[in-house]
Amino acid sequence: MKLIIQVCEVGFLPTNCWLVRDTASGRSFAVDPGWYDETLEAALRRMGVEQLDYILLTHGHHDHTLGLAQLNARFGGKIVLHESEQAFLTDDGLSLRHPAFAGLPRAEKADVLVRDGDTLPFAQGEIRVLHTPGHTRGSVCYLLDDVLFAGDTLFRESVGRTDLPTGNTAQLLSSVRRLAALKGDCRVLPGHGPETTLAHERKYNPYL
Ligand SMILES: [Zn+2]
Ligand SMILES: [Zn+2]
Repeated sequence: MKLIIQVCEVGFLPTNCWLVRDTASGRSFAVDPGWYDETLEAALRRMGVEQLDYILLTHGHHDHTLGLAQLNARFGGKIVLHESEQAFLTDDGLSLRHPAFAGLPRAEKADVLVRDGDTLPFAQGEIRVLHTPGHTRGSVCYLLDDVLFAGDTLFRESVGRTDLPTGNTAQLLSSVRRLAALKGDCRVLPGHGPETTLAHERKYNPYL
C-alpha cells in the first residue's frame, strides 16, 4: 500500500477530516466529514478521488458528521459507524446538532455497523476497528497499517471530554490505556488539533 493522507480542516471548531488514498490500488476513504464544501471537494479531486470506498465515522457528534450526507451523495462510500452509535445520526440531543443546521441533508443510517475487532477490507490490507468508548459510548478508532484515526478519544497530550451524553470518564481512561498498549509505534491522527504518535503520547500524555 502506498498511502497519501491529507487533512482538511472543516467546520467552525474546526474538525480534522482525514482523506486517504492508496495510490497503488486507487482505493480511498474519508474519516469524519464534519462539514462539506468546495474546499473538501477540491481536496478530494486533487488527490484523484472520484469515488470513495468508505466514509468512516469515529463517532456521531455533529462536528464529525454534518457533511456526511453531502459527501456521500457526491463521492459515495459505505458509511461506517459503531453499532451502539447509530442513534446519533438522527437524535440531535446525542449528536448536539444545532437547530440552525436542521435544513442540512442528513444521512440517517450507516451502511456498515461495526464492533470491536471487526475489519474492513481496504486495498491489499484491512482497516481494524477498535471500540474505544468514553467520549461517547460508540466511539471507535480505526487502525490501518501504522496509522490510527483516533477521533475524539486521543489528542496530542490530551484526551476527549466525557461530560457529553453517553460520555464516561472511567471508560475513556481504559480506552486510551488500551491504545497506549498497542504494539510498537504509530501515527495518531486525531479529530481535532495536530497529529501525534503513540510513542510521544506514552511519554507526554498525562492520561496514559
Ligand atoms: Zn466528539
Ligand atoms: Zn469533535
